[in-house]
Amino acid sequence: MLDIRVGNGFDVHAFAEGNEITLCGLKIPFSKKLLGHSDADVGLHAITDALYGAIASGDIGTHFPPSDNAWKNVASEVFLKHAVQLVEELGFKINNIDCTIICEQPKIGPLSNQMKTSVSKIMDLDINRISLKATTSEKLGFTGREEGIAALATATVCKFE
Ligand code: MG
Repeated sequence: MLDIRVGNGFDVHAFAEGNEITLCGLKIPFSKKLLGHSDADVGLHAITDALYGAIASGDIGTHFPPSDNAWKNVASEVFLKHAVQLVEELGFKINNIDCTIICEQPKIGPLSNQMKTSVSKIMDLDINRISLKATTSEKLGFTGREEGIAALATATVCKFE
């Protein structure tokens, strides 16, 4: 029997004064930074939670509590690699990832190929199995007011039993 699981992930980080953000593992020069306990990589956090969701194994906060100073300023690829490893330990293969970044700025379109390459390297997953999309919220809400970035991700994993 083919056991197919789907998980979703959602994350938000607020902007603060700064000059660079990290998005999907890519460092992007920008007029602000993202606030967070780790490097606040909202894209990688959403993908990580989608993987944990697919295998019903908690969330990023369960595995890496923000109260634990060991994870302060850590690169979020550490979280994503942990989720990938957990998926594999349970005998699943990652089929595909679909991630949507929601913000007015920076413009994601010109960066999306670099971001996909980055996610592909971190996950050791073929780039053709990774989708990275972007949208705005039409100037509405906190993303519309450019107060932060939101990200939404879906992951599908499968195994033969
Ligand atoms: Mg987060």
